[in-house]
Amino acid sequence: MRTFAFGFPRLGQRRQYKTLVEAFWAGSISESELQQGFRELQCERLQEYHGMDLIPSNELSLYDPMLDTAVMCGAIPSRFGIYNGLTTYFTLARGKQALELTKWFNTNYHYLVPELEQPNFHLLKNFPLEDVRLHRQQGVETVPTLIGPYTFLRLSKRVHLNGGTVTAVSPLSEDDIALFSAALVPVYSELLRTLRDEGVTLTVFHEPALALDVPELHWTQVTEWYSELSRSGVALWTLCYYDSVSDYLHFCELPVAGIGLDFVSNIENWQELQRHGFPKGKTLIAGIVNGRQVWRSDLQERLRFVESLLRFDADIVLAPSCPLFHLPVTTEPETRLPEGLRERLAFARERVAELRLLKAALESQPGALHEVVAQTELLHRPFARNDTVVRRVAALAETDFQRVPSAPQRRRIHQQQLQLPLLPTTTIGSFPQTAEIRRLRGQHRRGELPDPEYVSAIQQHIRHAIAVQEEVGLDVLVHGEFERSDMVEYFAERLEGFATTEHGWVLSYGSRVYRPPIIYGDIWRPHPMTVREITYAQSLTPKPVKGMLTGPVTMLLWSYWRPDIPPEELAYELALAIADEVRDLEAAGIRVIQIDEPAFREGAPLKRRHWNTYFRWATRAFQLCHAHARPETQIHTHMCYSEFNDIMDYIAQLDFDVLSIEGSRSKGEIVDHFAALPSESVQVGVGVYDVHSPAIPDTDEISAILERVLRVLPPEAVWVNPDCGLKTRRWEEVIPALRNMVTAARRLAQRLHISATQGECP
Ligand code: GLN
Ligand code: ZN
Repeated sequence: MRTFAFGFPRLGQRRQYKTLVEAFWAGSISESELQQGFRELQCERLQEYHGMDLIPSNELSLYDPMLDTAVMCGAIPSRFGIYNGLTTYFTLARGKQALELTKWFNTNYHYLVPELEQPNFHLLKNFPLEDVRLHRQQGVETVPTLIGPYTFLRLSKRVHLNGGTVTAVSPLSEDDIALFSAALVPVYSELLRTLRDEGVTLTVFHEPALALDVPELHWTQVTEWYSELSRSGVALWTLCYYDSVSDYLHFCELPVAGIGLDFVSNIENWQELQRHGFPKGKTLIAGIVNGRQVWRSDLQERLRFVESLLRFDADIVLAPSCPLFHLPVTTEPETRLPEGLRERLAFARERVAELRLLKAALESQPGALHEVVAQTELLHRPFARNDTVVRRVAALAETDFQRVPSAPQRRRIHQQQLQLPLLPTTTIGSFPQTAEIRRLRGQHRRGELPDPEYVSAIQQHIRHAIAVQEEVGLDVLVHGEFERSDMVEYFAERLEGFATTEHGWVLSYGSRVYRPPIIYGDIWRPHPMTVREITYAQSLTPKPVKGMLTGPVTMLLWSYWRPDIPPEELAYELALAIADEVRDLEAAGIRVIQIDEPAFREGAPLKRRHWNTYFRWATRAFQLCHAHARPETQIHTHMCYSEFNDIMDYIAQLDFDVLSIEGSRSKGEIVDHFAALPSESVQVGVGVYDVHSPAIPDTDEISAILERVLRVLPPEAVWVNPDCGLKTRRWEEVIPALRNMVTAARRLAQRLHISATQGECP
């Protein structure tokens, strides 16, 4: 029996990845220093796989593995010109008109969406081969891994051009898949031949898209592609994870040497395996330890599970359920967790150790079984439940989920109360998190800066933010979120039932990291969490300041959670804590409250047949936050960087008053789908500029998006805002960008006003 761990976080234990690429972007290190730093990080990562029988390579992307795959195949949109090494690479990732960024399956990792224009691919960059060679220099034989052709095509978008401008963007149709695969698969074949010529005998393909709903026709195509690829003379393994494979039998029939199944996400793969057996002569890469959640495995139970796999007479490789990059690097430095928690946790390093120990126990190595028993015993005393919270959730009635009066009635009340102009402007919440602010928070966290001084320093930043917004002429203001390191962690630190880590960083996209908190108990709110900062901001201006809260679904999904409490129950507990906060904000005079739910879409199961169950509790959790809000309170929500087109019906059920949604990075593709929202009641702010790029949008670009929105929605239903929060930007970028945004909105509103009085269309 062999072991194979993969996808170990590329961040590095000291976040070297982030430091390196950001230093390169800032111009403080050269390309060769960047490459040298990466080689060192490679060596560190290799150590992490110590004791595994197979060591993966081609894992350390400079920005994103999907981008790497696009570059590898020469799928570079024409607006980026001829590929010119790292300059083009990072322009694709974060330049002006960068590729769209969206969530990777049901995770909070964001990938860059390849845009396919013409079916003329070629092997532009042989990253896998380069990496195999690099590791050989370090004396290590590796197994190249790469994103497979199906996942690449399924997640890419087709772009139609007219004279160089993008006219339409859409997921690939059946015809597109046939067209583009005919050009793509030969590139993969060529790549495999170069690997074979280098003496590589095995290559691993990541195909999580096979866990989506896969139409029959796609299975036929995928089978053909893999039979072509398998003729290269390199043995292939195809891994499918994040859920059960969509069709077990088709997967088994793929003409590859090994298939990888996730036995952790749910029991469907296991049921199928029992029902149909396992194909003779193939390797089973068995995903048996959790790559998504941080709880230590019950190793005794896992041992029994592996023993039951042995019945199928397959060559078995023990593996994590999915890539390990959804976990922080290691629990080792987490010395300040609540009593008894660290021993129960496994981050990436500890997961690899579990695989090592399982193998040792299966081989009856001395002491291994004893260690398995000792580790399992630790798990047998779960943390207690909080009865008060459990009872509060149990006592919820239907009226706790239903806001009154109805949305159209509320809209009239808000119009009177807030007196906002046509096309009101606002932002999503955060303003630049400067080095100075991070330093302040760090000092306060370490106890070096007393509370009163910290509070007054934050207030100074709030004053600046309010002054800027008033000067720029925004209509609904925000306080800037300077006191928040992160929209989830900030609340987690103030809620009971959560633990936060000191070093548990995980990449969310590019070099952006966050520390997912850990839910280890029932959740409740001992004190108000945001009232002090929001009311301070409101005291500085007559314009409405939005109270900013993170929604229950996002709080849950961007945390790790306790396995013995159903996620919907935790979502309701979170929602009740947020409802308490809404009430306190209202009592303090706040008239507009935004409950962010950027993770709403990502929680959707990969297969549609499971959607209703998820969306039902996710929707109810959101409704619970504001069902008892006052009629005059305008409730906003915000969502971003997901594929929203197919969930508009669910979004409409959230019963908010205003939705701000990211739209410019996805080239306005979202806009046409707003027709599905009830525009007589809800209002929508489509993001009019990309916040991840330092480029400053001009008024024409902004007006173009707004005009597109106005073709779908009536003017009274339209708000104007950036795609997302501005925390990653600098004030020098934010101020002119917002100025242009306000100018574009005011000009358009004026035109609308004139044409309305003259009875014409704008
Ligand atoms: N209010 C948050 C901010 O502005 C929202 C961030 C998000 O959607 N991820 O930063
Ligand atoms: Zn956002």
